[in-house]
Amino acid sequence: MATVQATTLNGQTVSIAPEAIERFRATFRGVILEQGDPGYDEARKIWNGMHDRYPALIARCSGTADIAAAVSFARDEGIRLSVRGGGHNVAGTAVIDDGLVIDNSLMRGVYVDPVRRTARAQPGARWGDLDREAQQFGLATTGGEVSTTGIAGFTLGGGMGMLQRKYGLACDNLISVQVVTAAGEIITASESEHPDLFWAIRGGGGNFGVISSFEFQLHPFEPEAFALTVFYPFEDGVNLLRNWREFCETAPDEVTTQVLIWSMPPLPEIPEEMHFAPVLTFVGLYAGSVADGEKALQPLRELGESLIDMSGPAPYVQVQSDFDPFFPDGNLYYWKSIFADDLSDAVIEASLRQASEARTGESALIIRQLGGAISRVPEDATAFGNRQAKYNISYDSMWQDPAVSETNIAYVRRSWDEMNELTSGGVYLNFAGFAEDVDSLARAGHQRNYERLQRVKRHYDPTNLFRSNINIQP
Ligand SMILES: Cc1cc2nc3c(=O)[nH]c(=O)nc-3n(C[C@H](O)[C@H](O)[C@H](O)COP(=O)(O)OP(=O)(O)OC[C@H]3O[C@@H](n4cnc5c(N)ncnc54)[C@H](O)[C@@H]3O)c2cc1C
Repeated sequence: MATVQATTLNGQTVSIAPEAIERFRATFRGVILEQGDPGYDEARKIWNGMHDRYPALIARCSGTADIAAAVSFARDEGIRLSVRGGGHNVAGTAVIDDGLVIDNSLMRGVYVDPVRRTARAQPGARWGDLDREAQQFGLATTGGEVSTTGIAGFTLGGGMGMLQRKYGLACDNLISVQVVTAAGEIITASESEHPDLFWAIRGGGGNFGVISSFEFQLHPFEPEAFALTVFYPFEDGVNLLRNWREFCETAPDEVTTQVLIWSMPPLPEIPEEMHFAPVLTFVGLYAGSVADGEKALQPLRELGESLIDMSGPAPYVQVQSDFDPFFPDGNLYYWKSIFADDLSDAVIEASLRQASEARTGESALIIRQLGGAISRVPEDATAFGNRQAKYNISYDSMWQDPAVSETNIAYVRRSWDEMNELTSGGVYLNFAGFAEDVDSLARAGHQRNYERLQRVKRHYDPTNLFRSNINIQP
């Protein structure tokens, strides 16, 4: 048996005794993979192909007991660990070199209680899993816009989705979580149990323990809703964005919209001569009846002369996976976003110019409409900051050729820096580049919540066992 080497919390390389690994295996019901094992290379891959990491061990958990065993093993051996949900974080923090990956991606169960209108989900569930189960009972909650995104990292960082202005962020819909702490205890956090921890995990990321189950509030939601998808020419961008800004000022909470400044996707229903033309795509969903939705979203179909209008009634689960094909596993990605108090003319001008400077056809600059229920939760009620921002601007750079990686990353950083001068600033920590300069990133992302988060961190994770994340220093 080859010796397994790993990195300790203080950066030294150690060999793990084979007997220790054998004892770990004996307490574990899932699979523990080492380099060279069949399945190891598949299990270390994550969504962003920019990260090519070789963990010392990958513990593919089958339940809470496995998670607790894995946390105890890493703590007792003093080695670094990371926690993986859907593996979608652009920074790649789910997987680390030379440490233990606590891999929950096989734990995808979702159990809906239709009477209480709640869902309990395992930490490897994807939004497609949760949406599908909830819709069986005519229910839904705010979730990701791509069905393969993990519910875990998404919710712990806040979680923006197409129902957010009606029902708040994903983290606002959490009722409770079960947490495996650094000490190996299994506790419940909710408004009434460990409320400090419950406050921190709603926006504070994976800093405080491994969440082994999430309990969400669900809401009645018809299987069909009115969905907006309308393409306009890039040349009309200034007027289109000004008119959208005006629409957003008075839009009801039921309406959540966003604009993608990118290239016309080569979809079969779009004439070939239009493929890859620069466009603005307005996307939206109405949280209510199809008839009301059609009426409420009509102004966005008349913002100017559209190229193609694909709006209409659509099943909610389909809307929630319409974007899947544009974000394939294994492509190369660098994303970073910023909150904006408003969409000033200067921000509009900069967005359009920056979008046209993007170097690849697949890249998008996405402006999401916030407000509504998000902004009515008090700033200090959860760890999620920036609740008063009206928009979020995200630079989603995507490409396939590693030769252009540096250029594309530099483009996003430069654009973000410029936008930082024009807006209220503040990073959304679920789209935070490669988490470079993580300390200032965490402080900027959490702003005045940072010190309170530090206190919670000191209590639940004083040795900073959970550090492969947007790390809060204990
Ligand atoms: C294609 C795509 C679409 C997206 N769409 C949206 C969107 O619509 N709205 C939005 O807000 N965000 C969106 N995101 C961003 C998304 O919220 C983050 O990438 C999020 O981290 C993904 O969660 P995950 O479980 O897949 O992440 P992972 O990469 O598996 O985990 C990320 C981090 O979360 C923590 N973590 C994961 N599981 C646990 C756990 N059980 N306990 C404790 N900590 C844990 C760890 O620190 C880990 O490093 C999108 C991302 C992608 C790639």
